[in-house]
Amino acid sequence: MYTKKLEDFDLTAIEKAIELLKLYKTDRDFSSLKNDVRLCLEKKHNKVYLQDRDYCLATRFDGYMVDWLICPRCGYENFAPDFIVDAPRECCKKFYDKKREKYKS
Ligand SMILES: [Zn+2]
Repeated sequence: MYTKKLEDFDLTAIEKAIELLKLYKTDRDFSSLKNDVRLCLEKKHNKVYLQDRDYCLATRFDGYMVDWLICPRCGYENFAPDFIVDAPRECCKKFYDKKREKYKS
């Protein structure tokens, strides 16, 4: 479950949010976020993301900000750099190719 209410963030989540925001719009930001970007928290695993209007998610990976991809068909999720390497099914590969088309535009 996702929330955008900052009052739901605990101190750990706030620390993560600060680290994530430090990367936003820097040369370490490799996300494809566009419009209406906001912080969001996935409560179950206490993971912090930035999310835009098109439900594109980005998070911290190795000191960089990258997209977090979720296959809409089977639910497989991973950081963008690892997604295609570990992609378990054909639907995930198709989803990734479509995403890549979008990156180019
Ligand atoms: Zn899939």
